[in-house]
Amino acid sequence: MQLMPKRLIQTLLSATCLLASGLAAAQTYPAKPITLVVPFAAGGPTDIVARTLAATMGKSLGQTVLVENKVGAGGTLAGAYVAKANPDGYTLLIHHNGMSTAPALYRKMAFNPLTDFEYISQVVDVPMTLLGRKDLPAKTLPELSTYVKANAKSINLANAGLGAVSHLCGMLFQQAQGVDLTTVPFSGTAPAMNALLGGQVDLLCDQTTQTTQHIKAGTVRMYGVTTKQRIRALPDALTLNESGLKDFEVIVWHGVYAPKGTPSAVIDKLNAAVRASLKDPAFAARMADLGAEIVPESKQSPEGLRSWLQSEINKWGPVIRSAGVYAD
Ligand code: ASP
Repeated sequence: MQLMPKRLIQTLLSATCLLASGLAAAQTYPAKPITLVVPFAAGGPTDIVARTLAATMGKSLGQTVLVENKVGAGGTLAGAYVAKANPDGYTLLIHHNGMSTAPALYRKMAFNPLTDFEYISQVVDVPMTLLGRKDLPAKTLPELSTYVKANAKSINLANAGLGAVSHLCGMLFQQAQGVDLTTVPFSGTAPAMNALLGGQVDLLCDQTTQTTQHIKAGTVRMYGVTTKQRIRALPDALTLNESGLKDFEVIVWHGVYAPKGTPSAVIDKLNAAVRASLKDPAFAARMADLGAEIVPESKQSPEGLRSWLQSEINKWGPVIRSAGVYAD
């Protein structure tokens, strides 16, 4: 029998120990509160989905899921923070389409969405709405088209930073109108919405999770929904397509991520907790109220999220690069 060199035996032993301690940790997981990092300001659309999900996941995991807002650079600061966090399942990220647009928008990215994460699940798809301040002279989309063309430079369009979906939606709107408006970035669309309500900015494109309450209260002007079909949460609202913006479509998707190297047993537990949340009647009712749609089963898996992210990167990369928009 050939003897194994001492070095090799030591390496094998320490690898076995690491594996055993990883498995033991996965078995007792979660043994302390988990932090779910949100890339935008508290009270905004991503935060609303995150907090509703965190509360429901916490129930099924038997642990508190805390929400932490790490804002800045269109969501990329939060992405970099979680990519570099300890891969132990206690630091997670929820992010939207920004995960797929950032690689084209940011030439100097501190993380790679396709290689620096473990993928847990998608959550909900959310339509957006194009809004104006309440006293904007234009009342309908055709009137707004005329108004923005006549007043382009003096119109302020708010967004949540380069790479935010409000930025993407606003960019598509400007391209469709052939205008260049003055864009005003905020740390999330919660403060952007406050600025719209206060009349400090003129336009904002934002998710229904935040906008339905203001539309129903009549405190903003509403020019249309960004889906091809009308939505149940706002049955009377026209789509932007219907009102003349042909093929205009923005749907906001959400994924939950963990740092690369998080044990697969932990990912399985987190995936089960997300799935349980998506089946929870209270979660489903709250989301339906806000116009958010729970994703189909095929997207409730690590592979479902990863392949979707890849297809979105493939779709948006060329569009953004050809528009020549860069954040850095
Ligand atoms: N709605 C924001 C966006 O435009 C993000 C947020 O504040 O949740 O990406």
